[in-house]
Amino acid sequence: MAEQNNGVSSATTTTQPLWLLAEITYRCPLHCAFCYNPTDYDKHTQNELDTKSWLSVLNQARDLGAAQLGISGGEPLLRDDIEIIVEEAHQLGYYSNLITSGVGLTDKRIDAFKKGGLDHIQLSMHDITEEINNFITDTKTFQLKKKVAAMIKDRGYPMVLNVVIHRYNIGHIKEILEMAEALGADYVELANTQYYGWSLINRNQLMPTKEQIDHAEMVTNQYRDKVGNKMKIFFVVPDYYAERPKKCMNGWGEVFMIVTANGDVLPCHSARVIPNLEFPNVKDDSIKGAWYESPAFNKFRGDEWMKEPCRSCPEKENDLGGCRCQAFLLTGDAESADPVCSLSPNRHVIEKAVLDAQNPELQAKPIIFRTDKNSKRINEGEEKDRLSEFHSVP
Ligand code: SF4
Ligand code: SF4
Repeated sequence: MAEQNNGVSSATTTTQPLWLLAEITYRCPLHCAFCYNPTDYDKHTQNELDTKSWLSVLNQARDLGAAQLGISGGEPLLRDDIEIIVEEAHQLGYYSNLITSGVGLTDKRIDAFKKGGLDHIQLSMHDITEEINNFITDTKTFQLKKKVAAMIKDRGYPMVLNVVIHRYNIGHIKEILEMAEALGADYVELANTQYYGWSLINRNQLMPTKEQIDHAEMVTNQYRDKVGNKMKIFFVVPDYYAERPKKCMNGWGEVFMIVTANGDVLPCHSARVIPNLEFPNVKDDSIKGAWYESPAFNKFRGDEWMKEPCRSCPEKENDLGGCRCQAFLLTGDAESADPVCSLSPNRHVIEKAVLDAQNPELQAKPIIFRTDKNSKRINEGEEKDRLSEFHSVP
């Protein structure tokens, strides 16, 4: 029986998942200050799906129409069954992408991935300097990443580098692009930090100024002109300095499906921050049921859920009111306009965040790195004050 939710009947849902992101484990040897994983991830590390369950997820999602598979985490290479998953994905006809820090990628494993039909490897890099790389990840991984980049190139994979941009590396854009070019990168994504998970609680330590962003974009454009099509460069503009929000995930439950390490099925990475939404789990629900029938997936489909100013906004088709998680995290109301929008009555929250991030006293507070220990502490109720500085509670 189709569920009815906020006036949207699942029976009228005509979408299908095109992208499946398998967040296969929350374990990770790195401790990035900007990690988008949930701060409470530690509670999901003891009940990871087994190989058989992942193969079933892949099959079910493919039956529904999913064609792109991202294998991510945490660090997916901490699992020893990625080879099996890659092979199954290839048999099923997915275009598969391994999203990795590079830690754990050996000659033996990359050869097995190649043989198994993995299409694409996306490697994260952090800076041109060893010092910043090691600081922001709280690990000594700089040399290893360069070695892994060479290994990826050597196996004939397109070289796809992802660099998260923040205050510590934004002054090095030109040098980062030079390094990418020297490594033979085909694609470079300069992804300005978006503030969710760990990056949200470290926002005052990470957020660059508008002037720094503008300068970084100018340097990127100049570099683009210089290299032309030889290396494609994407510059992902940060939300907080925009006038309008992004069409988050291309719409809630429109194209993307995320299955987390413990089997929760989500329309976006952060969706579990929204209270009173019960997400389906593959241990109890089918992928088809999760997508079409679950109240959580239907909750923000269409526009019936919208409040003003979005409801009567002539631009609502462009952004669908922005990100539901950001709306909740920053205003306490998941049905309100994303406060990034200059038409939102809560835009002042963003303006304050930008000002706070330039306040030397707030900047000086220590970064909370993404570690199991810190996640446990957060789950046990520590750091409540720090969290409440950033999370609005209804
Ligand atoms: S952002 Fe860093 S800490 Fe988070 S999953 Fe990726 S590599 Fe691990
Ligand atoms: S008011 Fe709502 S729908 Fe209109 S532009 Fe802003 S976020 Fe988008």
